[in-house]
Amino acid sequence: MLEQLRDIVQQVNSARDLLSALDIIVVRVREVMATQVCSVYLFDNDMNAHVLMASKGLRKEAVGHVSLEIGEGLVGLVAKHAEPINLKDASMHPSFHYIQETGEESFHSFLGVPIIHHRSVLGVVVVQHEQERRFDEGEEAFLITLSAQLAGVIASAEATGAIAGISPSGQKISDTVFAGVSGASGVAIGEMVVVFPKANLFQVPIRPARDIDKEINYFSAALHKVREDMRDIYERLAGQVADEERQLFDVYLHMLDDDALAKEVLDRIKGGHWAQGALAEVALEHIRSFEMMPDDYLRERAVDIKDLCSRVLFYLQQGGQVQAEYSENTILVGEELTPAMLAEVPENKLKGIVSLKGSGNSHVAILARTMGIPTVMGVVDLPINRLDGKKVILDGYKGELIGNPSEIVRRRYENTVKEQAELNAGLEELKDLPCSTADNHRVHLWVNTGLIADVARSLDQGAEGVGLFRTEVPFLLSERFPSEHEQAEIYREQLEAFSPLPVTMRTLDIGGDKALSYFPIKEENPFLGWRGIRVTLDHPEIFTAQIRAMMRASEGLANLQIMLPMVSNVNEVKLAIQLIKRAYRELVQEGLSIKYPPIGVMIELPAAVYQTKSLASLVDFVSIGSNDLTQYLLAVDRNNPRVASLYSAFHPAVLSAIYHVVREAQEVGKLVSICGEMAGDPGAAVLLMAMGFDVLSMNAASLPKVKSVIRSISRGAAQELLGQVLQMDDAQAVRSAVDLTLYNAGVDRLLRSSHIH
Ligand code: PEP
Ligand code: MG
Repeated sequence: MLEQLRDIVQQVNSARDLLSALDIIVVRVREVMATQVCSVYLFDNDMNAHVLMASKGLRKEAVGHVSLEIGEGLVGLVAKHAEPINLKDASMHPSFHYIQETGEESFHSFLGVPIIHHRSVLGVVVVQHEQERRFDEGEEAFLITLSAQLAGVIASAEATGAIAGISPSGQKISDTVFAGVSGASGVAIGEMVVVFPKANLFQVPIRPARDIDKEINYFSAALHKVREDMRDIYERLAGQVADEERQLFDVYLHMLDDDALAKEVLDRIKGGHWAQGALAEVALEHIRSFEMMPDDYLRERAVDIKDLCSRVLFYLQQGGQVQAEYSENTILVGEELTPAMLAEVPENKLKGIVSLKGSGNSHVAILARTMGIPTVMGVVDLPINRLDGKKVILDGYKGELIGNPSEIVRRRYENTVKEQAELNAGLEELKDLPCSTADNHRVHLWVNTGLIADVARSLDQGAEGVGLFRTEVPFLLSERFPSEHEQAEIYREQLEAFSPLPVTMRTLDIGGDKALSYFPIKEENPFLGWRGIRVTLDHPEIFTAQIRAMMRASEGLANLQIMLPMVSNVNEVKLAIQLIKRAYRELVQEGLSIKYPPIGVMIELPAAVYQTKSLASLVDFVSIGSNDLTQYLLAVDRNNPRVASLYSAFHPAVLSAIYHVVREAQEVGKLVSICGEMAGDPGAAVLLMAMGFDVLSMNAASLPKVKSVIRSISRGAAQELLGQVLQMDDAQAVRSAVDLTLYNAGVDRLLRSSHIH
């Protein structure tokens, strides 16, 4: 059974579109389960009904025509309750709804199973039989398993249609919502530009050719190069491998012949596609059909085609036309975006960012927030290679994309964009005003830096210090560990720019989702593994070089603070302090005139929360890293969109842990700050202010928003709100209470919606 299951799923996976996927399902399930009928009904949003999309066994004419409204018939009932229905004789059931067109009167037994994706019912798969018998447990379990596995495939096939403006039943549709997670608030309207890794056939977007003749030439040149390579390899292998294996290269060469693959690609280019897209499409079709072959040997050939076509793609991309064209309103899309990809887009053209992978607290999202670019993360079902050039609306408040926007929806969002601009202009005016509550309680707003050269921007927003300088960035951009002097230069720039304001430099925090290409860490559970201080204490030479660089850079300035990430026990702190003291002594002996910096510990693990007093007693300050603290307290991977809805800094457990840290730190007389993204959410900032934080540190783009909200509320009202929410048992209720308080304080609606849920 397992073998058959895997087989069906693989076949469906390789189908070229939704209808062929469904056809494969009905044919194969009917055969494997030895039933007389297998049908799939899909819910069509536009028609608000379940449409019979494919069937083997019912009348052909019914397919695409028969539909059942919500709750109508047995299919409607399966969907409504999201539960299987297994009947010996369907016609006896009160919900049975006979539709003449299908010719199903002769089938008695009925098993319907819902197809569920992300909690919503996409449709129903049904098997039927003439015999009056209940399907047995094994059969039911098989269909449930299959349906669970197919839901994702069906969802992405539906999304492919939807992005082209077509519903499952072939109707023209608009305003299709693609759900993701908010990465950075704001709205953008524009055209998608897909960025994709090199030599990856699966992500090449389909684009029109700008000049067909040129594309043909690029393709011919690339083919020529691959042919040469193949011949070279063939020659080189003479005498080294068996002749049959050498023959493989002959096969490769034949595949490239003008009447085979190459012809198909050329035809598509002549039809108006750019060469890379044409090649990728042809390659994928062939790979799919080979993968579906029952014969092992033939199935293996899929690998050959992939290899061969990847080689051609490699040369095509070397041809120099990979550079994307960025439109005036670019919405940058990638499966996994990197800071370098964002940096490539001219700043005034980048209006929005979409990442298929990742979640609201992935580092790309944090970077996007720093840049103030509306961002949606984790839109997992989007078909990456069908998006280029498509017009969309990006709603960074809700974390969704709207495909094929209608005039009405577009106008509504255009108004929001205008509102946003007006709001920002208003915030500009707050720049030089202090951050004090309506009843004159002073709150200190600092910034997080490091992800880009954002010094100027931070100072411009009126930052009073740096609460977190993520030092890993220069390490990520380098090809080897930067030397002590190279690091010192970078750190000096930060310290000088902010002097006399304090700059908190965090020691190297790699591991988790931040990998250095020259120091790869391969682990099953990277977030629970070798990360942050665990790595640097195991490599004291790296730690010491960094500490020396920081202190060297601080010569003559007195504004350096050093902070330790990912601390889980006191010994790590003690050992780190020993190393810092030793480095300090050495530098002083070398004749440098430096001040010993204040040292701080990040509280980002549950263990650290419960040892706040012990940890704080060893150092000068503590700073809460709420991004990781939320992830570790709730056991929700901050990068995983599947569980993103569970990730909430408003979860009562998170709030009470944070409040605990503040009180414990205060009891031992130590300063306490917070530098997670939560501090940049205006509503959360109000709660944090009420808790008594000395410093809130956030991305530069959030600073004016937080300032504006804090200025419009009194400390008394904030404390009252805190008292209320600490009694609540649910994140959503907390969020609503915070929103209501902001509403009553007259806070703009765009400042109330935010990236944390
Ligand atoms: C945090 O975990 O809250 C934090 C500030 O650090 P990072 O996001 O870099 O892990
Ligand atoms: Mg962290």
